[in-house]
Amino acid sequence: KELIERENLNVSVFKIDDAHDGILKKTGCCGRCSSGPLVSVQPYGYFYAHVGVDDVEKIVERTLKKGEVIEELLMIDFETNQRVKSLEDTQLYKRQNFYIMEDIGKSECDSIEDYMGRGGYSSLLKVLSSMKPEEVIETIKASGLRGRGGGGFPTGLKWEAARKSKSDIKFVVCNGDEGDPGAFMNRTLLERDPHLVLEGMIIAAYAVGAQKGYAYVRAEYPIAIQMFQKAIDDAKRLGLLGENILNTGFSFDLEIKEGAGAFVCGEETALLASIEGKRGMPRPRPPFPAQSGLWGYPTLINNVETYANVPRIIRDGVEKYRRLGTANSPGTKMFSVTGPVKMTGIVEVQFGTTLRQIIYDICGGLANNEKIKAVQIGGPSGACLPPQYLDMPLDYDTLRSIDAMVGSGGIVVISEKTCMVEVARFFLDFTKRESCGKCVPCREGTAQAYRILEKFVNAKANEEDLKNLEFLAKLIKTASLCGLGKTAPNPILSTMRWFRSEYEAHLRGVC
Ligand code: SF4
Repeated sequence: KELIERENLNVSVFKIDDAHDGILKKTGCCGRCSSGPLVSVQPYGYFYAHVGVDDVEKIVERTLKKGEVIEELLMIDFETNQRVKSLEDTQLYKRQNFYIMEDIGKSECDSIEDYMGRGGYSSLLKVLSSMKPEEVIETIKASGLRGRGGGGFPTGLKWEAARKSKSDIKFVVCNGDEGDPGAFMNRTLLERDPHLVLEGMIIAAYAVGAQKGYAYVRAEYPIAIQMFQKAIDDAKRLGLLGENILNTGFSFDLEIKEGAGAFVCGEETALLASIEGKRGMPRPRPPFPAQSGLWGYPTLINNVETYANVPRIIRDGVEKYRRLGTANSPGTKMFSVTGPVKMTGIVEVQFGTTLRQIIYDICGGLANNEKIKAVQIGGPSGACLPPQYLDMPLDYDTLRSIDAMVGSGGIVVISEKTCMVEVARFFLDFTKRESCGKCVPCREGTAQAYRILEKFVNAKANEEDLKNLEFLAKLIKTASLCGLGKTAPNPILSTMRWFRSEYEAHLRGVC
């Protein structure tokens, strides 16, 4: 009652046997918080939505004690409009491919004992007791895991480079500076399954030979920081982190570094500068962090979602992992879907899934039967794709072939009522403000391009502005120092490519 009344939390109630009262677990978000507070009762799997304090007695007396289902509390599936008995019966769940999110919403996310009860830390145990660091790296290479932060670089190769760098001091860093508007993949993992990320980091440290790690998490995620800190403390308490882990002679310690809200600190060299206490600004590469990172020492840096894949790959094996996804993009990806769809939120699907499957089959299509005009994928500097790409399989290489990117996994659905010139201006406004100002093409170019887009929106642009905007966008893309500047013009270039008629309409004042 208290959890529902005071904290509006989702819970799972587990019946043990008739002689005991059962166990109550705080489970957090399972993707249906709009129907919360949610209560699931195990082992029956009954899933109750919009549970009020007055329903608690009923749930205890009828479901927990007698195993009866309370029909009027069952959740309604948005697609069929029918009540369903369990979360797994909903279309939202059936059509996803849960791999790293398998336990989210079912497990007690702030309990290391619960995590271990689900097989947690068995991969670390396996690695420390029976695998050489090189074997761990070979396993990750064989899995084909690619960095989930945006670039899609093969993770095993990155680990190998860090391993081969000669140094007595090495670092492992987790990039949790998820700054894309509307993207919550990292937050979901850090809040709901923090030990999965932590275990992945400890295994990575063992593989590359690092003794110290940092989890760089944006300060706007206070619950994620709190949950991850508790995970660190609990792992230390049980000897899974710190000096001489599990008496194997391997030591690794970890601390959280809070980001200060700069989008550019998601870029790895800027992030490392920020950890060092300097202003978060990118630097040219090479040298890459694997050779010279924090304070000049070799540093492995991966994204939250990348680390979360590692324990599962070690535990379940490469073959099972490669059964998901495509040959060159194996596994799954978490996407954050926003816009006028019926169900917004985080979904996990295997690579090769199409945008249509995500938007219509999983998220229920657009509300009010509107049509899709475009889908922006890859964060604020991702490309805006027209509907003809709805059936294209999503993977790193296919998207790259059309000048788009998976990015961190943001998907913004744009309805037919939206002006695409406004969309380009909106996203450029974000990247312009987040430019760190170090290099001229990005600092001045985004400001100039934004001024031209303002002229379009205010019906003051002419043909010359159209040419200048295109020239400027290509220049910024080519000449900027880091990924922020190189990708900032993507919304302009993609809307000019696919929706040029809207720019021309603005010129004629008929938008
Ligand atoms: Fe800074 Fe932009 Fe240059 Fe990157 S491209 S270094 S964000 S000014």
